[in-house]
Amino acid sequence: MTAEILDGRALGAEIKAELRDEVRKYLQERGRPPGLAIVRVGGDAASGMYSKAILRVAEDVGVRASLEELPEQTSADELLAMLQYLNVDEATQGILVQMPLPPHLSQQMVADTVASEKDIDGISPRSAGNLFLGLPSFLPSTAAAVMEILERTSTPLAGKRVVILGRSNVVGKPLSMMLLQKNATVTICHSRTARLADFTRQADVLVSAVGRANLITAAMVRPGAVVIDVGINALPGGGIVGDVDFASVREVASALTPTPGGVGPLTNVLLLKQCVQAAWQEVENSPGTLL
Ligand code: NAP
Repeated sequence: MTAEILDGRALGAEIKAELRDEVRKYLQERGRPPGLAIVRVGGDAASGMYSKAILRVAEDVGVRASLEELPEQTSADELLAMLQYLNVDEATQGILVQMPLPPHLSQQMVADTVASEKDIDGISPRSAGNLFLGLPSFLPSTAAAVMEILERTSTPLAGKRVVILGRSNVVGKPLSMMLLQKNATVTICHSRTARLADFTRQADVLVSAVGRANLITAAMVRPGAVVIDVGINALPGGGIVGDVDFASVREVASALTPTPGGVGPLTNVLLLKQCVQAAWQEVENSPGTLL
């Protein structure tokens, strides 16, 4: 069997086309586009690249995005003041604070401060709690991207065995809750899981979000499984690969995401999708302010 390649760029293009329509409608109704504020503190190179990539997607779909770049030595009070300003800024419907923060700043403080109605990357305890309770909520965008791939490719989930490798707050844990809501039977594995292959070989859908090149070999995959590779690993000589040994797993799985070109390109698109959703929710929650 040679796996179907689940093309994240093609799915991303499909979603962006839908978002352009949504933004056009919003613009007609409100007289201005939805606004996204990205806050970046310090000079982390990777977060600088992510910010630029998000700005490109925002421009592509018509969302007005700004990048607030604060110096490395920004104090907790200054960051707090910036977030409090954005929380009430009428032109801002979505807020994204880029990680990592410099060591003297607390990620928890950011998660606790961003207004839940503008928390488009699902980082706040309220968003996490709503997801856990099965209530509507903003979702961490990488986990949302995995769900979008599974749903847009009509991958059956109800009654299926899904095994997730990785239990981070941004991927493994939220994804497990989303899959549970779709009636999958979910197992989460992590660095202390013994006999990992015993679990992975049972999976109808296998998701790897670890960050270790070639962790998943063909022998660990059940023939016919759908394999979603979230991992991003930089190669010493340049270039990136996922967690999955692509060439061998391709011969066993029924469908497989590539890296690059799988989950990655969808993550920013899902962030923008949630920004547009936040904008519409603001309209629904404040009918008196409709133009
Ligand atoms: P993370 O916070 O470092 O979590 C990694 C998880 O993998 C942890 O739960 C860890 O277990 C588990 N793990 C480590 N070694 C393992 C092993 N041998 N077997 C099974 N599980 C193991 O990372 P993250 O932020 O979730 O990101 C995971 C990967 O996805 C990274 O490569 C990251 O670059 C990538 N990523 C991609 C996107 C995208 O847009 N495509 C977005 C975000 C992240 P413990 O909890 O026991 O330590």
